[in-house]
Amino acid sequence: MPLKPPPLKNDCFALPPGVDWTPVDQALAMLRDRLHPVVGQETVPLQQAAGRVLAADVVATRSNPPQPNTAVDGYGFAASATGEGDQVLPLVVGRSAAGVPFDGVVPAGHAIRVLTGAALPKGVDTVVLDEDCAVGEGVVAFRGPVKPGANTRRAGEDVAEGDVALPAGRMLTPADLALASAVGLAKLPVYERLRVAVLSTGDEVVEPGAKAGPGQIFDANRPMLLAMIERFGFQAIDMGRVPDDRAALRDRLDRAASVAHLVLTSGGASAGDEDHVSALLREAGAMQEWRIALKPGRPLALGLWQGVPVFGLPGNPVAAFTCTLVFARPAMGVLSGSGWAEPLGFTVPAAFTKRKKPGRREYLRARIRDGRAEVFRSEGSGRVSGLSWAEGLVEIGDGAAQIEPGDLVRYIPFGSFGL
Ligand code: AMP
Ligand code: MG
Repeated sequence: MPLKPPPLKNDCFALPPGVDWTPVDQALAMLRDRLHPVVGQETVPLQQAAGRVLAADVVATRSNPPQPNTAVDGYGFAASATGEGDQVLPLVVGRSAAGVPFDGVVPAGHAIRVLTGAALPKGVDTVVLDEDCAVGEGVVAFRGPVKPGANTRRAGEDVAEGDVALPAGRMLTPADLALASAVGLAKLPVYERLRVAVLSTGDEVVEPGAKAGPGQIFDANRPMLLAMIERFGFQAIDMGRVPDDRAALRDRLDRAASVAHLVLTSGGASAGDEDHVSALLREAGAMQEWRIALKPGRPLALGLWQGVPVFGLPGNPVAAFTCTLVFARPAMGVLSGSGWAEPLGFTVPAAFTKRKKPGRREYLRARIRDGRAEVFRSEGSGRVSGLSWAEGLVEIGDGAAQIEPGDLVRYIPFGSFGL
């Protein structure tokens, strides 16, 4: 039976009372502190574990390398029986090859043929490289002194048996699979993949490719959000579009909550007449309106629907995208068991001018050209082309700023967010 994690608390999205616009960092700290993994656990074969989140530390059941071995093709011997100047050692009959060790003993003052990866035979602690040897009739010659242990690998020099090779919470990379295999693991304990349902709301929104009447727009958010979730390494569930109709939305949220660990909606999250996401969450009694000091971003509606967290994102594609990267993605990290993720940013010179008043954080669509951060020509939050143009975000802190070309700014590539 997979372990069932405890439910989230009803007030897990409650922001401090009385604060009009909550600073981004305060909102993030709250998500970090109040969320916890909501996924079960299972054990999967190593081969299926890439991209999954480790549910427990991986402890090496075998050292890597398991025994001392040679790093090169050459000749092995005991260093203590050699000295300075020319060395001529008689060769023992036989050799040690990778996977086919020599099971005799090499007497002091003798040498043996060894091939890369071969276990060092008894009596051998040092190897000279082929290229540094001359081989005659039953002897090998090389110049001393040779450093004891040269060209060998110690048992466990990479990882020792019993060491933690990979920590719980890690999203497994291809290299992690190499390491897990090297230290003797064939199966890994992982969290169930986080399932994230996505739905769009709005009477004006129509399916891409459908006939669009006057006043209608194609659904830009849903394809984007579904693809973002997959890129983050989670399972995206398409819950379609819902018109601005409370009963229809209620029904769709019910279905989404029955299949997903988290629901992302876009549109209808403010407090207007047709903002049914926020209205329903409020009705359910577990709704928090998040007014974050952030641009681009309108109020977010956060709540629980039948115990499942719902992120009600703004409808504007740029705001939906930014809020997903800034808030939803780190939240997904915690819910998925992989923990809180801070995106890695880089300090680079600006290629733009920007004047900003204090009081909120701003994210500009940006990319790096010639070592400088360029920003998109318009900050309009409906400009989908700017999202596509950008390769990252420039983050400008909450205070006032006057940025001139050449000033240093913080650039966060989309890759740092897992895109
Ligand atoms: P709302 O948050 O519902 O007030 O929507 C804000 C803006 O985003 C409006 O101009 C909507 O038409 C637009 N919008 C809402 N949902 C989508 C969507 N799925 N794709 C593109 N634009 C949308
Ligand atoms: Mg709407």
